[in-house]
Amino acid sequence: MREDVAPPASCPHQPTCPPAEAADHAAATCVASHPGQGWWLLCNGVVCFDDTGELLPDGTAIPPCRVSGNRRTDGEG
Ligand SMILES: [Zn+2]
Repeated sequence: MREDVAPPASCPHQPTCPPAEAADHAAATCVASHPGQGWWLLCNGVVCFDDTGELLPDGTAIPPCRVSGNRRTDGEG
C-alpha cells in the first residue's frame, strides 16, 4: 500500500484520473459525451472539443492544436 494524496474530486475510477491542472489531464475518463455537439466532459471537469480545443474548469481555454503535416509524437511501438 502506498500513501496517495486524496483524489481531487469523487473520482470512482482506478487509477484515479489526473487533475485538471495536470499535464496529462486529457487522459481522464470521459463521463459525458456529446458527439453531436462536438464536445465531451472528462471526469476532472475538463471539456474537450472535437477540434482538440479544451476548456479547463477554472475557465482557462486551450486553443486547438492545428497541426498540418505528419508530425507524430514519439511512438512506443
Ligand atoms: Zn475519474
